[in-house]
Amino acid sequence: MSTTTTTPTTPLGGPGLPQERRIVTAIPGPRSAELLARKAAAVPSGVGHTVPVHAVAAGGGVVVDADGNSLIDLGAGIAVTSVGNAHPAVVAAVQAQVAQFTHTCFMISPYESYVAVAEALNRLTPGDHEKKTALFNSGAEAVENAVKIARKATGRQAVVAFDHGYHGRTNLTMALTAKSMPYKSGFGPFAPEIYRAPLSYPFRDGLSGPDAAARAISLIEKQIGADNLAAVIIEPIQGEGGFIVPADGFLSALVDWCRENGVVFIADEVQTGFARTGAMFASEHFGIVPDLITTAKGIAAGLPLAAVTGRAEIMDASHPGGLGGTYGGNPIACAAALAAIDAFENEGLIERAQQLGARLTRRLNDLRDADPRVGDVRGRGAMVAAEFVDPETGAPDAALTAAVAKACIAEGVIVLTCGTYGNVIRFLPPLAIGDELLDEGLDVVAAALGRL
Ligand SMILES: *Cc1c(COP(=O)(O)O)cnc(C)c1O
Repeated sequence: MSTTTTTPTTPLGGPGLPQERRIVTAIPGPRSAELLARKAAAVPSGVGHTVPVHAVAAGGGVVVDADGNSLIDLGAGIAVTSVGNAHPAVVAAVQAQVAQFTHTCFMISPYESYVAVAEALNRLTPGDHEKKTALFNSGAEAVENAVKIARKATGRQAVVAFDHGYHGRTNLTMALTAKSMPYKSGFGPFAPEIYRAPLSYPFRDGLSGPDAAARAISLIEKQIGADNLAAVIIEPIQGEGGFIVPADGFLSALVDWCRENGVVFIADEVQTGFARTGAMFASEHFGIVPDLITTAKGIAAGLPLAAVTGRAEIMDASHPGGLGGTYGGNPIACAAALAAIDAFENEGLIERAQQLGARLTRRLNDLRDADPRVGDVRGRGAMVAAEFVDPETGAPDAALTAAVAKACIAEGVIVLTCGTYGNVIRFLPPLAIGDELLDEGLDVVAAALGRL
């Protein structure tokens, strides 16, 4: 068997790619099928995939596969390529940096781009207090470090995470993550001193924000005790857990309680950060100022980079050498981040996320009004989801959700599912997608639902 596959016409990615849905073979086509067979032989089955094609180029709102199919991208690689794949300014910044130097290790000889990313995050994250930022490689690594920093700063050990929360796949972040299958099952034992509190989930609990917060705080006080608690970590809008938007007043009550009790409030904005929700950070929608904020996904247009940003006195509590990593804040990733952050600030992407969100919400609300199996439509900005239910009982309908997603993918529209019950389709289009392509993608979703 050959180990390389040549694709006759591999287009360059970026916004110049034809912005169209174009299906020229079955999905997967023969070349993707061949590559998927190689994948199955060479890569463990634990590393799954949602869309059975192999990508060769992407840009704007499309992903082109090895057979020349052009798929509408409503997932942005899980909210990562928000500025668009192969954004020209990102490409130029990366090309310049890779020719300059690729690595020194910031802990050996520092360089300016890391410091510039830290300065940008200190400036852009909520709150006008003095802040500092440390850079890492992945969202999970940022979360691990936020917990380290909070424990060191408070001298306490316990950490509270929430129902439906998702924080990553490393050992500590598996412990913080709520859902067993597929994230945790069989992978224990998990890190100790992690506790779980109930969330605010308006569609399913009917509680007001303050009531849901009182329920969580009561559990925390009774089962852990504020004196033992280093940090509370929460996604302002949950990602993998089902795009759950807490009721108004929930997050602010938690922040107030944390502040009264010397507990570090960590907002995990790995999925919600960088214009995704129609604000630079989702915390802004709820008027909260986190003590620490973790970011990754959208930060660097697809290059691996993550950050912990927070109050200078908390960030500085760790001793020299206590934080870091060989690759953390790699110069190529930092160059990409600086170009992406410039695009978020100067290319109107926050407004674009709001427009895309309004369009998505309008279309999905129409669908909900016409079809009782769409139980709830929720989200902020270009982070919107539909929750599918049995219309009689309100019970989650994971089978319908999976069938809709599969039908969309077969017709060339990349959609992702999520949710504790697997009954949510989430829409996270690149902010570089055009209105027509988004509409066409949603037409395909509506038609698929109609047929099932
Ligand atoms: C994706 C995600 C993580 C983990 O990020 P990785 O880069 O996959 O390690 C953590 N928290 C949230 C909220 C996420 O969405």
